[in-house]
Amino acid sequence: MTLNILFAAKPERWATYETPLRDALADAGIEAELALTLPPEEVDYIVYAPNSDLQDFRPYTRAKAVLNLWAGVEAVTGNETLTIPLARMVDPGLTRGMVEWVTGHVMRYHLGIDIDIERRDAEWEPRTPPLASERSVVILGLGALGAACAEMLTSIGFNVTGWSRSPKTVEGVTCLHGDDGLKEALSRAEIAVLLLPDTPATQNTLNVETIALMPEGARIINPGRGPLIDDEALLAALDSGQIAHATLDVFRVEPLPSDDPYWTDPKVTVTPHLAAETRPVSAARVIVENIRRGEAGEPFINLVDRDLGY
Ligand code: NAP
Repeated sequence: MTLNILFAAKPERWATYETPLRDALADAGIEAELALTLPPEEVDYIVYAPNSDLQDFRPYTRAKAVLNLWAGVEAVTGNETLTIPLARMVDPGLTRGMVEWVTGHVMRYHLGIDIDIERRDAEWEPRTPPLASERSVVILGLGALGAACAEMLTSIGFNVTGWSRSPKTVEGVTCLHGDDGLKEALSRAEIAVLLLPDTPATQNTLNVETIALMPEGARIINPGRGPLIDDEALLAALDSGQIAHATLDVFRVEPLPSDDPYWTDPKVTVTPHLAAETRPVSAARVIVENIRRGEAGEPFINLVDRDLGY
């Protein structure tokens, strides 16, 4: 039987995903009509980007699952026309990208690399950066991305604490959860990395009260989502020195407006949502594995819990 698979994403994505998806389908022995447009009632699976034109899922009466191209699903979890299973993207290529980005930015703070980059005078004042084992890094969110970053930072020797909603075990990592766990985690966060999803429960996780729990001069790295941080609270904490520096990849409004104070704050590094991109070849395999599962009657992987919002 030939499956009908709709590719519902911005047309420019088609150029990058068409061949990897066709190759992955062929490798899995799945015959499929893969297209940008198909009669809705004949579609079996929807490969989906939340910024596509497809927002009303009701006509897709035969579809068995929506397979998201993105790891973040906050733009689709609230869509009430979507009543079939929704899988988010857990892509080894994306995960690897995030691990490399987070490790790079943690090392920048850990080694004080900016001091050397910015040195212009004849200042010959050698300093001894601490070893990773003397540095406490906290990762908020211990999911696919947070746990992978925690493992890498632990392998370098950092003293890593992770925080999640439910109890977790990650080898070598102190795992905390719940409200008290957050307080304990932040109180030791010389460097905090935010890898939580954007849900009603995680918005403003870093706010006036929680930022005040962090050691003075702490650093924040946010590749998670903009709404995780109360921006006014962060700007005030940067002003007062409570937070020494922040590296922000994600924002409440993207692209970040040109008059946003983050652009000009000398204690902020802005990166334009580039921390980790879905990699078409590995992502196509993940999508096709879910289609194979659907056809074999096996449970889908990476399903989103619509009540929790991630
Ligand atoms: P994930 O596997 O779903 O993990 C989410 C983690 O957050 C889990 O550990 C979860 O706890 C925890 N969490 C959720 N709600 C919580 C709460 N209320 N309190 C405490 N912990 C909570 O997600 P992921 O794949 O690691 O991705 C994380 C986020 O990264 C995505 O949602 C997306 O926003 C962002 N992202 C950004 C980029 C970029 O380029 N900047 C790229 C990809 C993804 P449990 O373990 O208990 O469930």
